Amino acid sequence: MVTKKVLQQLAKKHGTPLFVVDHDELRRNYATFRKYLPRVQAYYAVKANPDAEIVKTLYKAGASFDVASMPEFKIVHEYIKHMPAKQRQAWIWDKIIYANPIKANETLRELDQYKALVTYDNFEEIKKIKQYAPRTGLVLRLKVANTGAMVELSSKCGAAPGEAVDLILEADKAGLVVEGLSFHVGSQTTNFENFVQAINLAADIFKEAKGRGYKKMNLLDIGGGFPAPYDASVKPFSVLAKKINAELDRLFPKDVQILAEPGRFMVATAGISVSKIIGKAVRDGKLCYYVDDGVYHTFSGIIFDHCHYHMEAFKNGQKQICTVFGPTCDALDVISMSEELPTNLERGDLLLSRNIGAYSAASSTWFNGFPPAKTIHVNR
Ligand SMILES: *Cc1c(COP(=O)(O)O)cnc(C)c1O
Repeated sequence: MVTKKVLQQLAKKHGTPLFVVDHDELRRNYATFRKYLPRVQAYYAVKANPDAEIVKTLYKAGASFDVASMPEFKIVHEYIKHMPAKQRQAWIWDKIIYANPIKANETLRELDQYKALVTYDNFEEIKKIKQYAPRTGLVLRLKVANTGAMVELSSKCGAAPGEAVDLILEADKAGLVVEGLSFHVGSQTTNFENFVQAINLAADIFKEAKGRGYKKMNLLDIGGGFPAPYDASVKPFSVLAKKINAELDRLFPKDVQILAEPGRFMVATAGISVSKIIGKAVRDGKLCYYVDDGVYHTFSGIIFDHCHYHMEAFKNGQKQICTVFGPTCDALDVISMSEELPTNLERGDLLLSRNIGAYSAASSTWFNGFPPAKTIHVNR
């Protein structure tokens, strides 16, 4: 863990606001994932935090990558420069899945050059892929239950189970190759039954496709959604992994390749925000602190990710429920209406937030002229 003392030194050296990335923690998360899900290759979902240094550390640790745009594809593709020509094709399949079921024509044209692996979930997309990216490999994204997830992802993506095999056969008829199935149970899924149900549904569709004559599927992508330990209510990863392993071993023979797309699980606990108090006021009898980072910046996950972050002071003192505001003039820029903080904090004092590595800096803006927090990498 990066200590308060180190964070204080970093703030002194670099100023605030800071977004600190702990690379030891990235490596620990990757190792935990592999330890408990040994059959599952981890494709880090780059959108959770697309910082090239994070990609590099996870790459070195052995990760593959889930990308959902050409800029994300290129961040990962950087590493191919070092490969002998002969290995490049295998490398792309082994290291990248383009997991956005809707792709622009121009994107498909580019992906075709790389003969990439791409997801799809509708008939229109088959026509597009046939025209612009016939050399790509396809993975059908299924719609599955997202019950109890913090962020729901199934209303926008995923083929209805009743349509799935028709979509596979249609792609086959168009001369495309469907390599397998994928799904996403919803981000920060603490309801582990979502995974169990989704794996069972995928097994049914494998079986139905075989029954209807399509035998080329050999890949199952169990998506993202693995929860970060934001609080004590999140059950340990080992408990979830045990359930997943049991279903995979029961339903999928060893020659089916299993992959997953963890985003949040890899980076959430590796990111720390350090901000500075720039103002202090009492409004309607409540103590309010104004800090130099907010919901348009590192705390954007409050809006986009439905996530709550706790703030911690570096000083001790009598505590009280306070409001913490971001620096912009927008009344939406509220980090928390109820943080227990010492009342004796002053202008210039620092606050920190842990577990803020996922869907935070990734969606930071320049709103109101305030630049995103400076990223500092530690333990690289
Ligand atoms: C966002 C996303 C992920 C990552 O999800 P997490 O909940 O962060 O693990 C994985 N796959 C797809 C297709 C996504 O859209």
